[in-house]
Amino acid sequence: MAEFTFELNDDQKQVRDWLHGFARDVIRPAAAEWDEREETPWPVIQEAAEVGVYSLDFYAQQFFDPTGLGIPMAMEELFWGDAGIALSIVGTGLAAVGVLANGTEEQIGTWIPQMYGTPDDVKVAAFCSSEPDAGSDVASMRTRAVYDEAKDEWVLDGTKTWATNGGIANVHVVVAVVDPELGSKGHASFIVPPGTPGLSQGQKFRKHGIRASHTAEVVLEGVRVPGSCLLGGRERLDERLARAREKARAGGERVRNAAMATFEASRPAVGAMAVGTARAAYEVALDYATTREQFGRPIIDNQGVAFQLADMRTRIDAARLLVWRASWMAATGKPFTSAEGSMSKLFASEAARDVTAQAIQILGGNGYTREYPVERMHRDAAIYTIFEGTSEIQRLVIARALSGVPIR
Ligand SMILES: Cc1cc2nc3c(=O)[nH]c(=O)nc-3n(C[C@H](O)[C@H](O)[C@H](O)COP(=O)(O)OP(=O)(O)OC[C@H]3O[C@@H](n4cnc5c(N)ncnc54)[C@H](O)[C@@H]3O)c2cc1C
Repeated sequence: MAEFTFELNDDQKQVRDWLHGFARDVIRPAAAEWDEREETPWPVIQEAAEVGVYSLDFYAQQFFDPTGLGIPMAMEELFWGDAGIALSIVGTGLAAVGVLANGTEEQIGTWIPQMYGTPDDVKVAAFCSSEPDAGSDVASMRTRAVYDEAKDEWVLDGTKTWATNGGIANVHVVVAVVDPELGSKGHASFIVPPGTPGLSQGQKFRKHGIRASHTAEVVLEGVRVPGSCLLGGRERLDERLARAREKARAGGERVRNAAMATFEASRPAVGAMAVGTARAAYEVALDYATTREQFGRPIIDNQGVAFQLADMRTRIDAARLLVWRASWMAATGKPFTSAEGSMSKLFASEAARDVTAQAIQILGGNGYTREYPVERMHRDAAIYTIFEGTSEIQRLVIARALSGVPIR
């Protein structure tokens, strides 16, 4: 088992420095342009693929880092560059984790490579769980998957929303209801292969921040996928449903569903994204405070400014520690008995929201303009308290874990 240490090993430091260089030289200079264009930055993803930043191999290496720090370190550096572009680069990872968490070895080997494509023909993937009437309340999901025994096919119907890369993805991972009686325990995840008829993009959202990342509705009308596209396979699904029915009869012990397994695994990673954005804004603010003069001295000479910077940095470091703890626990098989994954996401996302707002304050009028990046960083940071479970839902998860009470 990997010993816990705050010291990155030489390999990790090398990867971190390499990613930082890519974030500084390629992502950051492109950030303002793609934010304004509100389009997927395909040339940047392509460049990331050419150097290996956007590749299955790279993510697998980080994902299976025995210390657990590979993914949070990568997220922090890329999102330090720019959140919208970085999400375009790592958004495929959420779908990949959905397959890793629930798929068979064969499904993992078949579908994850197709999510990334090749450096010559780059592809992205989408994970589609949220629906117009089922955001935080996952159990209200309506998208149905019905098995057609005669053809060994599943037929999917419904509307997904807020899907990162939805409609432009090569591979879509779709969560759907297979047994409506069981609420969220009756869900299963499906692969929708490239070019499957019946899947189309609905509205593309115009957003407050992370505007370089594509977010859209995904409409599923009579989408037929082979039986082999059920993640985990039929046998495992039948066993899981039988267990859930038994538990429901015995008094409703909670069973984790497929989408929740994906979200739990990815929450510390979202915390790390937030740390990256917060650190970026803090650095701009620190630099500005040491150079901007008012009353004949740098504004950092005032405790009112310097103390804000001290608080910002303290919260960023505290957030990183929570993220690293949760990531290390996950990698070393320690259960999140106190919802440590949710704690890390909750704290880091709120830190990013507040730190980026403080950065605007420190830059004064300049901070409020698009001449400086902190305005964009603050808009971007607003997403972290919303996606992959809002702050309120994280508090609910933590409070339930601590108390054992089904708090509403
Ligand atoms: C840019 C973006 C990208 C996204 N990417 C994806 C993706 O790739 N795939 C995907 O499946 N989804 C994605 N999402 C969806 C995201 O996970 C949801 O938006 C989120 O879970 C919240 O759901 P909702 O928007 O329906 O809000 P609602 O659930 O309607 O919540 C509205 C408000 O009510 C509060 N609330 C709700 N229930 C409770 C409660 N029980 N107690 C206290 N407060 C409560 C919430 O905290 C929130 O403040 C994305 C969203 C955005 C904005």
